[in-house]
Amino acid sequence: MSDKFDVIVIGAGPGGYVAAIRAAQLGLKTACVEKWVDNKGSAVLGGTCLNVGCIPSKALLETTYKYHEAKAGLNVHGISTGDVTMNVEQMVARKDKIVGNLTAGIGGLFKANGVTVLQGMGKLLAGKQVEVTAADGTATVYAADNVVLASGSVPVNIPPAPLADNLILDNAGALDITETPKRLGVIGAGVIGLEMGSVWARLGTEVTVLEAMDEFLAAADKDVAKEAAKLFKKQKLDIKLGARCTGTEIIDGKEVLVKYTDSEGEKELVVDKLIVAVGRKPQTNGLLAADSGVKLDERGFIFVDDHCRTEAPGVYAIGDSVRGPMLAHKASEEGIMVADMIAGKHGHMNYDVIPNIIYTHPELAWVGKTEQELKAEGVKYKAGKFPFAATGRAMAANDTDGFVKVLADEETDRIVGIHMVGGQASELIGQAVIAMEFCASAEDLQMTIFAHPTVSEALHEAALAVDGHAIHMANRKKR
Ligand code: FAD
Ligand code: NAD
Repeated sequence: MSDKFDVIVIGAGPGGYVAAIRAAQLGLKTACVEKWVDNKGSAVLGGTCLNVGCIPSKALLETTYKYHEAKAGLNVHGISTGDVTMNVEQMVARKDKIVGNLTAGIGGLFKANGVTVLQGMGKLLAGKQVEVTAADGTATVYAADNVVLASGSVPVNIPPAPLADNLILDNAGALDITETPKRLGVIGAGVIGLEMGSVWARLGTEVTVLEAMDEFLAAADKDVAKEAAKLFKKQKLDIKLGARCTGTEIIDGKEVLVKYTDSEGEKELVVDKLIVAVGRKPQTNGLLAADSGVKLDERGFIFVDDHCRTEAPGVYAIGDSVRGPMLAHKASEEGIMVADMIAGKHGHMNYDVIPNIIYTHPELAWVGKTEQELKAEGVKYKAGKFPFAATGRAMAANDTDGFVKVLADEETDRIVGIHMVGGQASELIGQAVIAMEFCASAEDLQMTIFAHPTVSEALHEAALAVDGHAIHMANRKKR
């Protein structure tokens, strides 16, 4: 038996690395196990989010939005740019550099906080022991008073579209395309499909997205989904609903024939690259010994209670490998809650106030309940909506698409949901999250001073509109 730790965290994604840093900050002797290795055999920290998820995708989105603005968005300001060109290899290299800096930064934070990195595949044994099998095959067993499982998720593959080198790609491969494809197919009009579809549509690629469901963005508020569908159509993202992929064929090693069915029958599509983005599933292969005491639920997620406790005493699980939305900030906050609980503190996680964002342009963002959910639950609510087109700052920025919608309980006035489509919705939603976390009423927001001129004023006006008091638009007559 090797060293004993107060806490061993398995997985160094945004759930695991945050839990490890917090635990070490609270004075606990902490180790973090990570199986991902670079070509020198060192642990790659940061998980999906930093390496092949949130950060690289946002780097590509930022670059391509700047290109799009330079090419088509500046004329209106009287700025002519001449011939704007795009070097895709440089875009990808810049993305890789950002990823490298951030993942190295986690190593630095671990060092600064005294977290021990154990490179290797972690397996939870009985009695809170963790076996770590390094890349060279050596296995070492460590004991711990507490174990945090943060093994994350992997992409779902579908039999009709098996991955094929450089042609049929999952979300990781999709981030490394180094030449603008003429035609791109995407299976799945979810978050990855819309974000990666936007990246390439901005560079002039013909993008076709095949979505199996008949409804677009079913989890979003209907107003958001409707507005987004309209705007994406204008951006030439061809989203086909009710379209099920039935098979794929590689033609001459350079094109992909995609067969699918929709309401009109069998169809075919030929593309230069195909991205499969149909969701992700928990990663638990090899993680649990048969007698670890940890159970999986019927969907393969690690079974936990509201405080991320598994069925095995002293063993917690967080992030994408447990129930709830697969989001980096959800994973991180669960990590903090669990580390706090292990250190004897209370631990806090408000599952009702987790923001969701889709980083297209405009961005889609929401927190709390949708109108459809409130109706289904029989909650009586008031709604106020305000368009960015009526705010001076959005006009100045020539970024007027979208709106903010505030939903408040009709009886108590407490805000129960905020939904938005807008150029800066990813930042603006933070104000909505703070308001909801502090249990604000619509009146609280109405009485708050918002700086002028800012796009945030749309949130203020939407809160005022809840009671028919928006200043800068004609209010709908209330019943
Ligand atoms: P992960 O980040 O998956 O990390 C798990 C880690 O555990 C990995 O490093 C893995 O190698 C390691 N591991 C697994 N099993 C073992 C084992 N047995 N032993 C040792 N190590 C192990 N979320 C957002 O909030 N915002 C975004 O903008 C966003 N964009 C995304 C874009 C893409 C393309 C993708 C794919 C995802 C995106 N996500 C985004 C989702 C986000 O990446 C995940 O929710 C987040 O990474 C989950 O964190 P985690 O720590 O639970 O798991
Ligand atoms: P997703 O769940 O967002 O979307 C998958 C889509 O594919 C759904 O609309 C689904 O109906 C569709 N689909 C499923 N099977 C299909 C099939 N056979 N044919 C056609 N369509 C099919 O999943 P994703 O886009 O792969 O993203 C995975 C996870 O990563 C998400 O859960 C998300 O939380 C996370 N993520 C978050 C962000 C962000 O926060 N901005 C960005 C990217 C990914």
